[in-house]
Amino acid sequence: MSRIAYVNGRYVPHRAATVHIEDRGLQFADGVYEVIAIWRGLPVDLGPHLNRLEQGLTELQIPMPASRRVVAHVLREVVRRNGIGTGIVYLQVNRGVAPRLHTWDHGLRPSMIATARRMPSMARTVIEDGAKVISVEDIRWKRRDIKTVGLLPNVLAKQKAQAAGCPEVFQVDGDGMVTEAGASNAWMVDQDGRLITRPLGHEILPGITRRTLVRLARDAGMEVVERPFSLEEAKAAREAFFSSTTNFVMPVVQIDDAVIGNGKPGSVSARLRALYLDYLNGLTPDAWTAAA
Ligand code: PLP
Repeated sequence: MSRIAYVNGRYVPHRAATVHIEDRGLQFADGVYEVIAIWRGLPVDLGPHLNRLEQGLTELQIPMPASRRVVAHVLREVVRRNGIGTGIVYLQVNRGVAPRLHTWDHGLRPSMIATARRMPSMARTVIEDGAKVISVEDIRWKRRDIKTVGLLPNVLAKQKAQAAGCPEVFQVDGDGMVTEAGASNAWMVDQDGRLITRPLGHEILPGITRRTLVRLARDAGMEVVERPFSLEEAKAAREAFFSSTTNFVMPVVQIDDAVIGNGKPGSVSARLRALYLDYLNGLTPDAWTAAA
């Protein structure tokens, strides 16, 4: 099956999908995006993803490109046309096309693109080895809660991690506190088994997976404490992990030179991953429409 993309109102072959050279997303990273997991053909937490999209657009004074219902329909269509069972759908909304000037006119029509990709590896029920991460200085701007396409610091950090043989980084602020990972939220488990993750604010992206995990953990009687934690604390933690749309819950077994726990994925993160998989397996077909 050849891949199909959505570009500004049209479904086109992926290889022929192009945007205008004066799209402000291209020239200024003037746009936001969402990555939504697809599980057995159903979207995971579509409503919260659309909420975050709307919040980001509002912050940037970009209008929604279409109603939530239409956006949801486009995503569904892209998933269907690409035959995605387990994978992701990617959505990007930019301010629009205009002659290159930093300032913008309010009448611009936002551009919207969507693609989808299979990721069967997401269906792994057990993570055997866990991940090693390196710490990097968080050099991003002060509104990391907005999911903008301006990802250069994350790109550089993740490239550095890859060169070190690691899939992720823990980003650290000027006070030595972990903000989040490169494309995921960061967590640790303290010696009493409490789940610790940084509270929401301008410093981190409000991860949709993080949000669902906080709820699932609390519902299951696990204690979740939303507070900042330092890199040193994470290195001495019982467990650490990161969470995202594509990784769900990924145990961290080493941070820089520090081995976490016994160097194997821990029981708390395994339990949380299992809870999350149960949650995914409980999705119902109205997942596409309930959100709109
Ligand atoms: N933090 C950053 C910087 C991210 O890029 C992402 C996802 O791409 C996340 C956290 C996790 O967010 P979500 O769970 O919504 O995928």
